[in-house]
Amino acid sequence: MSEAPWTLQQDVQLREANTLALPSRARWLAHVHDPQALPQLLALPQLRELPRRVLGGGSNLVLPAELEAVVLKPTFSGLRIANTDTQGVEVIADAGLNWHALVQWSVQQGWHGIENLALIPGQCGAAPIQNIGAYGVELAAALKWVEWMELPRGQLQRTPVEALQLGYRHSMFKQLPAGSFMIVRICVQLKRQSSLQIGYAGLAQQLQHHGVHEPTPADVFDAVCALRRSKLPDPAVVPNAGSFFKNPLLDAEAAASLRRQWPQLPVWPQADGRCKLSAAWLIEQAGFKGARLGEAAVSAQHALVLTNAGHADADAISALSTAIQQGVLARFGVSLDTEPQFW
Ligand code: FAD
Ligand code: NAP
Repeated sequence: MSEAPWTLQQDVQLREANTLALPSRARWLAHVHDPQALPQLLALPQLRELPRRVLGGGSNLVLPAELEAVVLKPTFSGLRIANTDTQGVEVIADAGLNWHALVQWSVQQGWHGIENLALIPGQCGAAPIQNIGAYGVELAAALKWVEWMELPRGQLQRTPVEALQLGYRHSMFKQLPAGSFMIVRICVQLKRQSSLQIGYAGLAQQLQHHGVHEPTPADVFDAVCALRRSKLPDPAVVPNAGSFFKNPLLDAEAAASLRRQWPQLPVWPQADGRCKLSAAWLIEQAGFKGARLGEAAVSAQHALVLTNAGHADADAISALSTAIQQGVLARFGVSLDTEPQFW
């Protein structure tokens, strides 16, 4: 790692720094090697009047063509064990550490808790922002606290998981103004004994397919990786930002009424009494799976995934996203919310 606390570049093309491969020229890009130096960095005369944005792995973002801002990218990526006892272990990961690397390492130690979240792209610092989730598990189940820094002053806060307002693809961080904070590290609690969540239909089948009857965290990790590789387009080959829409949550009555009209509609009752609908099903039935509008397309493999067909920019992605929202609303009366952040 460089001795300097940051590396600063002017007029940087971010096409390779976002998984949708959208062209985006940032006025300034700062690789932040030491978060303590952020107040000093942001006080530089050329930066101090500009808006700020924090960039992780760029896997949940729609970037504009021109970004008249200072983009801060954490590169600090330490990992340490904070506490350990017979039940479990607390692990502290820096913001810049790759999330999947943390999952892989924890599985290698034989620890349980985040194996279902394998192969989710991005950095550990971004994981709490939308409370990442997959295959029946959310980060909330393992997270202990998040340490974050107010910008530009640099005041450090540690917020326990109970106060983070974590929900389906949601946290309190989504309510803070963009660029007003940087998550610097997270603490996850992992267990030594089995607490495996393998109830998710596709996962149980995949384990069976692998001939596994008494799974370890490593077996679940392998099954999740195999499932994801078989079902989701790889952003390195087909640029995308994962699921572009959240599954809509409706009250039970509204969901039942839709189900009467559309008996095939997948509906999952939630603990809070609401019902989760399949956004992918709604999009497919509205005729958008595999559709293309200009340079943006809906994956033919997965209706929730919007892809860059070659030369898409943020406008092309937005136009397709809006067309899908309007189509689904017209056909089913259901509003779809987008998942990635639009800068
Ligand atoms: P970015 O895209 O860089 O940023 C996302 C948001 O977080 C931005 O608002 C950014 O400002 C903010 N941010 C990032 N880092 C910090 C920080 N340190 N401090 C403050 N703010 C920060 N998500 C799921 O929940 N489940 C999945 O299964 C899943 N699968 C995916 C599969 C694919 C193929 C892709 C492309 C995406 C998938 N995602 C999934 C979405 C995405 O990977 C996650 O949301 C991930 O946590 C984003 O991390 P990132 O580092 O790329 O964040
Ligand atoms: P899938 O297994 O084909 O399932 C499709 C959808 O059905 C998912 O959106 C999932 O909701 C929902 N679902 C299935 N079983 C459910 C249950 N028992 N209870 C509630 N909802 C259920 O999904 P997939 O698209 O291949 O993705 C697999 C997993 O990875 C999912 O959990 C998905 O969320 C996650 N993933 C997320 C992203 C992203 O960018 N956010 C991208 C790729 C994959 P949930 O989404 O709530 O699980």
